[in-house]
Amino acid sequence: MSATVPAITYNVDLVRQDFPILAREVRPGVPLVYLDSTATSQKPRQVIEAVTRYYSQSNANIHRGIHTLAEEATAQYELARANIANFLGAQTPRQVIFTRNTTESINLVAQTWGRTNLHRGDVVILTEMEHHSNLVPWQMLATEFDLKLEFITVTPDGLLDLDEYQRLLSLTPKLVAFTHVSNVLGTINPAKDIIKMAHDVGAITMLDAAQSVPHYKVDVQDLDVDFMAFSGHKMCGPTGIGVLYGRKSILESIPPFLGGGDMIKRVKLRSFVPNEIPHKFEAGTPAIGEAIGLSAAVAYLQNISMEAITAHEKEIIHYALERLEEIPGIAVFGRPAAHKCGVASFILQGVHAHDVSQVLDRDGIAVRAGHHCAMPLHEKFQVPATVRASFYLYNKIDEVDRLVDGIYKVKTLFKS
Ligand code: PLP
Repeated sequence: MSATVPAITYNVDLVRQDFPILAREVRPGVPLVYLDSTATSQKPRQVIEAVTRYYSQSNANIHRGIHTLAEEATAQYELARANIANFLGAQTPRQVIFTRNTTESINLVAQTWGRTNLHRGDVVILTEMEHHSNLVPWQMLATEFDLKLEFITVTPDGLLDLDEYQRLLSLTPKLVAFTHVSNVLGTINPAKDIIKMAHDVGAITMLDAAQSVPHYKVDVQDLDVDFMAFSGHKMCGPTGIGVLYGRKSILESIPPFLGGGDMIKRVKLRSFVPNEIPHKFEAGTPAIGEAIGLSAAVAYLQNISMEAITAHEKEIIHYALERLEEIPGIAVFGRPAAHKCGVASFILQGVHAHDVSQVLDRDGIAVRAGHHCAMPLHEKFQVPATVRASFYLYNKIDEVDRLVDGIYKVKTLFKS
């Protein structure tokens, strides 16, 4: 083995003790090696306990009740919003809208800002590396409103072609919507520059931060982004809770998304007056326990520090890339490592990605195989599917070794 084992920046063994699931065996005698955090992360007991505490002590519907539990639940839900706003560097908690996930957050923008601001022939710039969540909502709108979708191409190294972006900006787009970090290539895009360039031509920006907020310190004011979306479940929080951050003036100017309770100030039989932000965008009973769980997740990540988490993942991915590329017949997508987060997607010559994943699972190694909701990107690289190993704050260097050993086993089995 030629790769050097790097130093770890915090005690991963202690962190792992916080995640009950990491102690389980997939089958008797086969411990879990969880390398699928890009799909969803595991949850520390601090989050599980926060959700349990809420349901055991304070569960009630929010905003409408005057009794003690309703007041406690409301206070905890709104405190969660404030904590998340603080985590993002937002000016006010009112800019944090709770949704179900990244997908819903992006659809909210498409159906509210998009419907009122995009017109026939308007140009929307996306990229070839988008998750379907940041493609399909715009395709749906493009069909209805006859919009022109343009795409920043991806270079063979898995980076965005920024010269081409510069050329596309001459079309004076109304919107530039792009992913901060690719869930397939792991590429970290220069979001601040992309946003600045968009603003210079008067475009609004929508950042898909599903894969960045869990792993990096993301400051919305520093980025100067107009809309940003992410999911709680990818950052140690519960499923069913996501966030849309928005520029205050824009949020105030656009219509509500869904209609119903809580999003109104007044209702008559034939009309309604929408509520203030953020409630205007939160129709019906929200995911209260999940928002409280997400706030606990944010506190957990902050306690370790986002900088330490980023540094840890950087070391793991450097090591993983070195080790993976030792394997004959493997092709890893998205280089170079300097622009990459903790994601390694690869193909193994002569073996289908699903078979690789299935064989690895026998050794308890959980990776993802498929198109990872980025079919156009896979088409571009002319592969139907890749195997994706992804790393988070709780992964260890020896898990990379187990992955590599597992891949050699696959090669032996398939004689590849
Ligand atoms: N965007 C990116 C870059 C993602 O990786 C994902 C999920 O993998 C999503 C959007 C969609 O997230 P969700 O399914 O939580 O809405």
